[in-house]
Amino acid sequence: MGHTVQAESPWGEMKCWTQLTSLFGAMRIAIDIDSTLHHYWDVLSAVSVQRFGVALPYEEQFSWGITRLRPEQLALCIEESHSDARILTGQPYPGAVETVRHWHGEGHFVHITSHRPLDRMAATGAWLDSIGLPFDDLHCSFDKVARCVELKIDLLIDDSPANLLAAIDHGILAATIAHPWNRDAREEDDILGAEDWYELSRLLGPLLASRQRSLAQ
Ligand SMILES: [Mg+2]
Repeated sequence: MGHTVQAESPWGEMKCWTQLTSLFGAMRIAIDIDSTLHHYWDVLSAVSVQRFGVALPYEEQFSWGITRLRPEQLALCIEESHSDARILTGQPYPGAVETVRHWHGEGHFVHITSHRPLDRMAATGAWLDSIGLPFDDLHCSFDKVARCVELKIDLLIDDSPANLLAAIDHGILAATIAHPWNRDAREEDDILGAEDWYELSRLLGPLLASRQRSLAQ
């Protein structure tokens, strides 16, 4: 018998899906880094100000595109935002590390995934270790969702609407921390949006607990 999620389903019509989850054991969770595990936007804006004197106001970032910088300027800012020093001083969102540690401790598979270049992997792994965030797999590349499919991921937590929608197309549940640029996606699509990690943990709790209980049976 599968466990029914009693709390309001974060995915509305996908309630039936969550009723079936306990058939499959532990959850396989993919988690993005920038703007998901830590507030990347301020890092990027600070680099942009330093380099080009152009601030990137978070509150005005309603789309995934950045128009205040030319493409080559943006590419440079992104590259500099991922220097070893900046990666290693990243401050995780409140509740993020505790939540992931809890999930991992319950037996769920944790895959950390980022669009950072491959050569940023060592610094990224060192940062994850330094903040005490456990993971089973770390992936740095632009084919995030392909890697999720390869790893049979059940749930992707990512702030990018494009990634979330691609995940849904592959039957992967999608959740995000709320940002201005994913507001429309949260309102219109089967994407779970949470204001912060505490809310995300609360909303995902019933689903993950049902999977964890099934392991014990
Ligand atoms: Mg991100």
